Amino acid sequence: MEYDAIVVGSGPAGFLAAGRAAERGLSVLLLEKMKKPGRKLLLTGKGRCNITNNLPVNEFIKHVFPSGRFLRYAFSHFYSKEILNLLERYGVPVNLERGGRYFPKSNKSVDVLRTFIKWNEDLNVKILTGKRVEKLLAKNKVIYGVEADGQRFLARSVILATGGKSYPATGSNGQGYELAKQLGHTVENVRPSLVPLETEGVLAKKLQGLTLKNVRAVVWVNNKKAGEEFGELLFTHFGLSGPIILTLSRIVVDELQKNNEVEITIDLKPALDEQKLDTRLLRDLNEHGKKKISNMFRSWLPSSMVPVFIDLMEMDPDKACHQISSKERKQIRYQLKNLRFQITGHRPFNEAIITAGGISTKEISPKTMESKFISGLHFAGEMIDLDAKTGGFNLQIAYSTGWLAGDSAQGT
Ligand SMILES: Cc1cc2nc3c(=O)[nH]c(=O)nc-3n(C[C@H](O)[C@H](O)[C@H](O)COP(=O)(O)OP(=O)(O)OC[C@H]3O[C@@H](n4cnc5c(N)ncnc54)[C@H](O)[C@@H]3O)c2cc1C
Repeated sequence: MEYDAIVVGSGPAGFLAAGRAAERGLSVLLLEKMKKPGRKLLLTGKGRCNITNNLPVNEFIKHVFPSGRFLRYAFSHFYSKEILNLLERYGVPVNLERGGRYFPKSNKSVDVLRTFIKWNEDLNVKILTGKRVEKLLAKNKVIYGVEADGQRFLARSVILATGGKSYPATGSNGQGYELAKQLGHTVENVRPSLVPLETEGVLAKKLQGLTLKNVRAVVWVNNKKAGEEFGELLFTHFGLSGPIILTLSRIVVDELQKNNEVEITIDLKPALDEQKLDTRLLRDLNEHGKKKISNMFRSWLPSSMVPVFIDLMEMDPDKACHQISSKERKQIRYQLKNLRFQITGHRPFNEAIITAGGISTKEISPKTMESKFISGLHFAGEMIDLDAKTGGFNLQIAYSTGWLAGDSAQGT
């Protein structure tokens, strides 16, 4: 054998796997198909890298789908404290922000990437870029190497860390699923997640570019409430985006796949119940008296939203406030609490932050990340059927599964 272990893919999972295996004294080759390593990592957190989250394990795993319990063992060996320690050791201090999110103090994802590269190099991991692995070599259910661009590389262990299918320009285009399938692994329903949503009609388009903070979005599936999130959303030319929409997209994508009818309503005034809202409306209508209704709405809504909102209610913008009937007031109340969007689809993989689905966890040992039927083959990172909401969760899954795979890989 040329190497003890070969790691395929230089994302966070691959770097952690290679680094940990090398720390244990294994000779390690890291193969990356792109010219440069860690392309996706550079994009994370809008270039700032939301490194991880400070939730305790019991809470963290509740945010992982389809089941976070698979990660318990990995997290008990390598968790947020460990990744922050590694970064600290390499001179990358961090800040804790709202929602338990850690970012590098420098606000630069490249500092995280540089750390991973330096750590691997310090441990003599051999990093070869521009090498696309096209085949896994196995005999009698035992792995013995890979083929990349017609060249064979032999090793006792192979760790696949090729990522998902989203943002394929970064190199993660789903090829790893095909490699695993060739050796008989099951790939569970691969689909975009944390992805913007497309809506019917022109309402979102009319509001494009507008961000709303502190609103509540509710998902309705066949008229039944299926989920809700509070926070920030963004209107785009095709529909809805922003943090709370991305989080809700996991439910929405699945329901659309089942051909269910999906709607999202936005509560523009979540802090006011119907009663309080009505009292405030009455007060403001009285105060504005002869002034135009469009005038009053300026204190209720962002100014770019006012004409669109009035249009939606088919109301005369010049109508005086004291002429608003109780029926019209009821309609205003309703629209403020239930701005409705029919969801027609979701954006494609190249706009999805992560990929849901992947290599079935039923076929991977949670204690070693090793395949249950191909000896010496390990999996790590986003290619496994695990995904989570935004907040640093997905990267932590990549580090922890990567570290455990590197910790368990056998040498020659
Ligand atoms: C825009 C954006 C922002 C994000 N922000 C955050 C964030 O702030 N916090 C967070 O927790 N998560 C974030 N994520 C998610 C996070 O980036 C991923 O979950 C994480 O990168 C997965 O790590 P990975 O190592 O499994 O895979 P990847 O990072 O996708 O790395 C896989 C690597 O394998 C290589 N590869 C693929 N196939 C082959 C092959 N056949 N041969 C050789 N190499 C191959 C690819 O080129 C790639 O470099 C974000 C994602 C996106 C797209």
